[in-house]
Amino acid sequence: MKITDLKCAVIGGFPVVRITTDAGIDGIGQAENWKPNLKPHILYYRDMILGLDPTNVEAVMQRIRRMGSFKPWGAAVSAIEIALWDIAGKAANLPIYKLLGGKVRDKVRVYNGAIRFPLRDQSPEAYAEDVRKMAASPEGFSLIKQGIAFHSRMPNDIPGYYTGDPRAWGRHPHRGMLSAAGFRHTVACVEAMRNALPAHIELALDCGPGFLPPDAVRLAQAVEGMGIAWLEDMLTGDYVPYVSAAQYRDVKAKTSTPIHTGEQIYLRQNFMELIETHAVDVIGPDPLDVGGIAELKWITEYADIHGIAMAPHGTGDGIFGLAALVQVCATLPDNYIAFEYPLARPEWWYDIVDGLPDVIVKDSYIDVWDRPGLGVTFNKNAQKYLLDEDKGFFDL
Ligand SMILES: [Mg+2]
Repeated sequence: MKITDLKCAVIGGFPVVRITTDAGIDGIGQAENWKPNLKPHILYYRDMILGLDPTNVEAVMQRIRRMGSFKPWGAAVSAIEIALWDIAGKAANLPIYKLLGGKVRDKVRVYNGAIRFPLRDQSPEAYAEDVRKMAASPEGFSLIKQGIAFHSRMPNDIPGYYTGDPRAWGRHPHRGMLSAAGFRHTVACVEAMRNALPAHIELALDCGPGFLPPDAVRLAQAVEGMGIAWLEDMLTGDYVPYVSAAQYRDVKAKTSTPIHTGEQIYLRQNFMELIETHAVDVIGPDPLDVGGIAELKWITEYADIHGIAMAPHGTGDGIFGLAALVQVCATLPDNYIAFEYPLARPEWWYDIVDGLPDVIVKDSYIDVWDRPGLGVTFNKNAQKYLLDEDKGFFDL
């Protein structure tokens, strides 16, 4: 089998990859919906993979893997990797999890980081009200993640929250020392959220990036005893093109609260220091940024033998990203906690794909499906949502 084309269309804001073959089998991959700029980046790889056998996934990846980088520049390579696995699964008439070594669980746990509501203000009461709403979702989530501190509006809306001037640009742009008042406010919000949730629902907190190590230690110690699932990306994280493993290790050594990072990191090599020096307790790469699902599988196995847990990121990954997460997470070892459940928006996304269960999430779990490849495919409704420039995407 040979690759005959690599295409990209932006559908409802999501860059979607389609790889076609001379056997009439195609494969789909997707990138996060806030990366519509990726289209030329995805097409950049086209000439490097034409004519190769897509079922030799690793051989194809060797051609393009070095031409990627940390988030957002690993997304194009990652989406192509997933489309290759989709083809390999369809060609073998097997779900992808079989090609990754087989499933070790029949259902995969998910957590809620995407079904959020506008906060009325930055008060502890508003945060408590918000997590109550997140917990009331019909998916029955048993783990909820809320943004606080530098991963929230606190630096902008709480006067004197930290030493720097609040920044209005970019993604999570703040960095500096928390003021005493800012620190107290943050802890009060965490307490209010924890008290608002029933005991069986866990609470994780996305915190940064932007903390300096002493504040990270103080916050982690202050919430000890509250049973927080993890504190995410305090020092470095989302859209930071480096890892800061040594600083994370300093923080982790001083607290019993689990410390988490990794959603922006590209490739296994960039997890080495975090894992080998036991710098964090939980890592959370996104299969759509880290280099794909085989990459995520390898990193999880390596983390497991070092006593580090895995909770993959996925909030913007859409339906094909969801399918990729279901397939790979079915194969992960016992250090797997849950993946971040992606919602597809606009709602019509659910009308243009076949293969999803009628109720996707039940009691915080998704039953692993057994159809070939990713197990979800576009149907004929998808054509009408293509932009004019992408009308030939499905070869219809
Ligand atoms: Mg995060």
